[in-house]
Amino acid sequence: MIPDISYLEENARRVRAFILTHGHEDHIGALPYVLPRVKAPIYGTKLTIGLLERKLEEHRLLNKVSLNVVEPGQQRVKLGPFQVEWVRVNHSIPDGCGIAVHTPRGIIYHSGDFKIDPNPIDGRLTDLGRLGQLGKEGVLAMFCDATNAERSGYTPSERVVGEALGKVFAESRGRLLIATFASNIHRLQQIITAAEQHGRRVAVAGRSMCNNIVVAEELGYLNIGKDTLVELAEVHSLPDEKIVLITTGSQGEPMAALTLIANGDHRQIRIKPGDTVVISATPIPGNEKVVGRNIDNLFRLGANVIYGSQVHVSGHASQEELKLMLNLVQPQYAIPFHGEYRHLTAFRELAAEVGMAKDRVVFPGLGERIQFTNKGISRGGKVPAGPVLIDGLGIGDVGNIVLRDRQNLAENGFLVAVVVMEKQSGSFISGPDIVTRGFVYVRESEDILEEARKRAAAEMEVIERREITEWSLIKTHLKNVLGDYFYQETGRRPIILPIIIEV
Ligand SMILES: [Zn+2]
Ligand SMILES: [Zn+2]
Repeated sequence: MIPDISYLEENARRVRAFILTHGHEDHIGALPYVLPRVKAPIYGTKLTIGLLERKLEEHRLLNKVSLNVVEPGQQRVKLGPFQVEWVRVNHSIPDGCGIAVHTPRGIIYHSGDFKIDPNPIDGRLTDLGRLGQLGKEGVLAMFCDATNAERSGYTPSERVVGEALGKVFAESRGRLLIATFASNIHRLQQIITAAEQHGRRVAVAGRSMCNNIVVAEELGYLNIGKDTLVELAEVHSLPDEKIVLITTGSQGEPMAALTLIANGDHRQIRIKPGDTVVISATPIPGNEKVVGRNIDNLFRLGANVIYGSQVHVSGHASQEELKLMLNLVQPQYAIPFHGEYRHLTAFRELAAEVGMAKDRVVFPGLGERIQFTNKGISRGGKVPAGPVLIDGLGIGDVGNIVLRDRQNLAENGFLVAVVVMEKQSGSFISGPDIVTRGFVYVRESEDILEEARKRAAAEMEVIERREITEWSLIKTHLKNVLGDYFYQETGRRPIILPIIIEV
């Protein structure tokens, strides 16, 4: 699923650049699909550009775009009438930034995804000083990460996870498997450091995990001792207490390593009693069920499973950090993003607590434009927006409509209605015959299908009487009659295919 970019495409010539806050999938993942349609240079920090490079290479786009590495706090990039500066922040991936755009109307600050970690793994702090300066210069509007606006207090430091993992390493006797986000380089560093301290060698399972470790080490974001890593295939030749396996699949993704392992389908790794599995992540909303299933299956295979908040911390700011951010930046307007409606609402409450008028916290509807003029802020009409489905190969090959059909087929099934008509007179001879798959179980639904047949036949007689001969019209009539009837009876809307045979 990628965003609808038709508005960007219409205005492609006015797009000066893509400016990236950090390298997470929800912030760079759509670029391989967008770049062929909207050409503009890309700016981001070293790791962000490094991760994007890998992605563009896979899509054979690497030599078609201009990638530019920026240094936070050091430089401004001039883009048309704008000056853009990157401000370092902490997040669950290194090299994250907020972005200040200096415009002729004032400064617009985009927080990126952030938290404020007073003791981050790489020692690079959220640049509170610069944020305060921006606040003094006067910020017109702040777009702010509202993910954790419902959580009180402060989000714990990433180091808390390191301590918890240290305990797990100290207490585990058998093999250790740890699943986490492939992009959480600091988490990976803490696992690798703990492994080195406890005399375990590290094997890696999962493509994105392998990719990210290569990129992060190459660019200097991961320190790995030269004897630490071991091939997955060699794991069997080592004693259990000398192994830690880092895997993908912390979100229960169906083809990811941990899910295959939990299902007993992984080619190289089989769970045995004595194994300890750590899921160092919490499920993203919507993934609870599949993650839960993996945990159950791992227990069933005899592993001890450790999961949940004891071995994970969030990468997003909680209430006290959000208030601090508002106090430093002092925006005239705040636009919360990166959350559901309830999170945006909670953010507005927080802003009110630190003295912002509620009408200064704006959340536009999807696709709604916000205009900044010398009179302040106003809503400026709608542009096309929303998700566009892609089938993983590209956009344009099979479109949104095809994918919606596939979804509808999966959820409601289909139904074919065959009608026979006489060529010469256009009169209705027989049918309709109705064939269904994946819609209702025919043997138990004979009554409904018989009634549908009767109604469709009656409709055909009306069509004949009114001398409608155009096929597309006849098909529409049939679809409507059958569609309405089945919806009324079953609450479902199967795909209906009317077929007319002339004899
Ligand atoms: Zn993020
Ligand atoms: Zn994000």
